[in-house]
Amino acid sequence: MVSHHSLKRGVSYFGVRNPKHVFQDMQDLKKSGFTHVLHTYSEEDLQYYRETMKEIIDISVDLGLSVYVNPWGVGRVFGGEAYSELVAKNPGTAQISADGTIQPAICPTSQVFIDYLMNWLDTIAETKAETIFWDEPHFYFAKGNLNNWACRCPNCQKLFKKAYGFQMPDNLTPEVLEFRETTLVHFLRQMTDAAKERQKRNTVCMLPPWFPAGIDDWNKIASLPSVDEIASDPYQERNDSSELVLKHYKETAERLMKTAKEFNKEAQMWVKCYLIEEGREQDVTDSVLVSYDAGIRNIFAWSYKASEYLSWLRSDNPEKAWLAYLESFKKLSV
Ligand SMILES: [Zn+2]
Repeated sequence: MVSHHSLKRGVSYFGVRNPKHVFQDMQDLKKSGFTHVLHTYSEEDLQYYRETMKEIIDISVDLGLSVYVNPWGVGRVFGGEAYSELVAKNPGTAQISADGTIQPAICPTSQVFIDYLMNWLDTIAETKAETIFWDEPHFYFAKGNLNNWACRCPNCQKLFKKAYGFQMPDNLTPEVLEFRETTLVHFLRQMTDAAKERQKRNTVCMLPPWFPAGIDDWNKIASLPSVDEIASDPYQERNDSSELVLKHYKETAERLMKTAKEFNKEAQMWVKCYLIEEGREQDVTDSVLVSYDAGIRNIFAWSYKASEYLSWLRSDNPEKAWLAYLESFKKLSV
């Protein structure tokens, strides 16, 4: 087997909060050749598992794994299968969609949200985590109705009027698109600067361009001084052809490499290893290979064991999908 000293190999891990069991799984990852693990860190973790999470992160590091941590589903501004109660606790901070619907996601312009994340960061700072993974920061959207964009909450409308001198339109005009992007970039600048002050490394993972997340120009993220690494996750949908899967990974990898190089940052690719259809496990392997061939040297998968025990995301044959991910690293040409 060829060794890849400079290659970062990682996977996300969640759903187990018993450090004894986590320890066994981390040993398993280490033995399988992983260098990195991402531990999800939700609102629930912050509220109820603070000491436990520190233990989980620190035992991973002590075993020789570098740890990424993400604000998992926090505020529903970040990606993840975790509930958020920030809006319920802070009425009036919710994002509002173009059709006027109040959404279960907090507005990233809300001071409540900023304060919450500063406390979240203070807590992570007490652990041995290496990197804060700002996962899919986005304005609220629902799959199936991508035109119903957000946010038109009173605060966004006020900020928009102040910036542009007229009422915020109810469709995605160039000014609204620009406003949304400026808002998220400003938010991420605050977050990554704060993480850096706490001696943590920053990765920002951007949703692929077919989602109306709000960030279209990746240069604006890569150029932020405290951002160390940019990432993306061009996950396939069921029924996508193998050709389309490869095309998306190749294009995304090339775009990440180009942007990272321009701003002297690192690049990371996320490979889909959940909801893999039986017989399509080769897609997992190919996603790794095509990313590597494009120059990516930091590859993570979502998630451990191909999401075997999160039934909503479970692959048809988790064992086969997970093996496809493990085996892919043996096929890299160096
Ligand atoms: Zn808003």
